[in-house]
Amino acid sequence: MSEIKKQSTSGPGQERLYASCSNKIGKKNDGGVVDGNFLVYGTNNLRVVDASVFPNIPGYYPMIPLLMISEKASDVILAAAAH
Ligand SMILES: Cc1cc2nc3c(=O)[nH]c(=O)nc-3n(C[C@H](O)[C@H](O)[C@H](O)COP(=O)(O)OP(=O)(O)OC[C@H]3O[C@@H](n4cnc5c(N)ncnc54)[C@H](O)[C@@H]3O)c2cc1C
Repeated sequence: MSEIKKQSTSGPGQERLYASCSNKIGKKNDGGVVDGNFLVYGTNNLRVVDASVFPNIPGYYPMIPLLMISEKASDVILAAAAH
């Protein structure tokens, strides 16, 4: 919640409009919430795939980067399901 408040009250502009970055992809030690396979640390098979996983705001409009991470996530999920 504090991250959302920070995002909504600071930054060059887009952070105020587009809620994001509250479940960042990254190393757990660096404050990451999900790993590179979108799995939530400390859980079993729980994934997050939405604008919350961006480590930073990816440019002005988020929809194209969202489509890109969604395609990546579908590959990851299908590969995991195949095992
Ligand atoms: C007014 C406005 C204009 C925008 N214009 C642009 C633009 O021009 N270009 C651009 O790139 N981006 C734009 N954006 C931003 C873009 O729409 C969002 O960044 C993007 O949709 C976020 O995607 P998301 O998947 O994270 O969340 P969302 O698209 O919000 O998807 C979340 C989904 O989860 C569902 N949901 C919520 N709670 C639950 C629950 N408990 N159980 C089940 N389902 C649930 C919701 O119904 C929704 O379908 C705009 C945003 C706003 C608000």
